[in-house]
Amino acid sequence: MRYYSTNGKAPMATLHEAVVKGLACDRGLYMPESIKMLPQSFFDNIDKMSFQEIAFVVAQAFFGEDVKEDDLRHIVYDTLAFDCPVARVTDNIYSLELFHGPTLAFKDVGARFMARLLQYFIRQEGKEQVNVLVATSGDTGSAVANGFLGVEGIHVYVLYPKGKVSKIQESQFTTLGQNITAVEVDGVFDDCQALVKNAFMDEDLTAHMKLTSANSINVARFLPQAFYYFNAYARMKALGKSDNMVVCVPSGNFGNITAALFGHRMGLPVKRFIAANNANDIFYNYLKTGKYEPKASRQTIANAMDVGDPSNFARIYDLYKGDHSAITSLISGATYNDDMIRESMRQCYSDNSYILDPHGACGYRALSELLQPGECGVFCETAHPAKFKETVESAIGADVVIPERLAAFMKGTKQSVEMSKDFASFKEYLMNV
Ligand SMILES: *Cc1c(COP(=O)(O)O)cnc(C)c1O
Repeated sequence: MRYYSTNGKAPMATLHEAVVKGLACDRGLYMPESIKMLPQSFFDNIDKMSFQEIAFVVAQAFFGEDVKEDDLRHIVYDTLAFDCPVARVTDNIYSLELFHGPTLAFKDVGARFMARLLQYFIRQEGKEQVNVLVATSGDTGSAVANGFLGVEGIHVYVLYPKGKVSKIQESQFTTLGQNITAVEVDGVFDDCQALVKNAFMDEDLTAHMKLTSANSINVARFLPQAFYYFNAYARMKALGKSDNMVVCVPSGNFGNITAALFGHRMGLPVKRFIAANNANDIFYNYLKTGKYEPKASRQTIANAMDVGDPSNFARIYDLYKGDHSAITSLISGATYNDDMIRESMRQCYSDNSYILDPHGACGYRALSELLQPGECGVFCETAHPAKFKETVESAIGADVVIPERLAAFMKGTKQSVEMSKDFASFKEYLMNV
């Protein structure tokens, strides 16, 4: 499969090139040249297949031309070492629980897949070690670090702002050891990002070591997110609830919902989609006016969705050739402020005894408000509520139990490398490791 750039000014890339580069050289996002329709027989029998079996069929459609069948099967099964089940919340609203992975958030699926695909390419070429640099304000670092943990041939450097991430988040990438190094930068997130960008552009460094990024826009992180929408359909079909299915995705950079839209293009029988936003309402306004007007991001309690210029908008626009009416006939929007998010967490808990995290709460609320008679909705519960323990507990007035695997991180010993925010010292450090 070849990949083109949404900006149309970069050469076509192979899968390997697209994965290593992340962003195309014209700063566009990579898109596969074609999206394969899956046969009707697949959907007829899907409710009898396991999550891994379903995911492998979807993975073959995306990556089957570029990765040998047995290796691809191994990558998919190894990535999906945990389930993404649907849980009943009300008669017609179900939660697609994407928090059963190692860091308790949906980004685990994409990060684990990308790590294993990158390892496949390294092995095939007999290349020397690849180094992944990632700047994080919290959640990306933990998903990437845990996704790549123990993957041979790859070393990960997670750069994070000292004192600016929560203890839970910090423990998820500073206690791992092995091939993961946490770099604690005396600065803010933007300083971390600047260090990473400078490193990629530095000729001495790139001659000294092979560097790559693990951005959420990377095709190897973004496409595998389609797997769990097919699984959601299968599980809803088994329950007799898959007719008129509506999928609602709490969205920030819009990668997760774009993967769902790819699924739809492959034939997944979803009637329509809802993008649920916090107070960052850029996409919501685009649907209303047809104008895309990025803004500075606003801080909310659903902070993984605090995005003022969602990067995957370019992919959605490209997928529907910029046709506003095609987009609005398939996707609707919703936007909620912090008070509404808190109220939804409280309401859902008192009505259904189901504990939402602040992101999932946007999805649940959008379905509660926008479902039509005869429709059944599935929203993504994108993170475990324990990741936002204080916020959730004060909203619902009850305790949130911390799962064992999250508690285990917090018991580990912190290991980090202290770094100033000037590039010269970071460069010297990398030149000497
Ligand atoms: C990243 C994230 C989101 C937003 O996903 P996008 O793909 O950026 O739209 C939502 N919820 C949680 C918990 C996240 O970590």
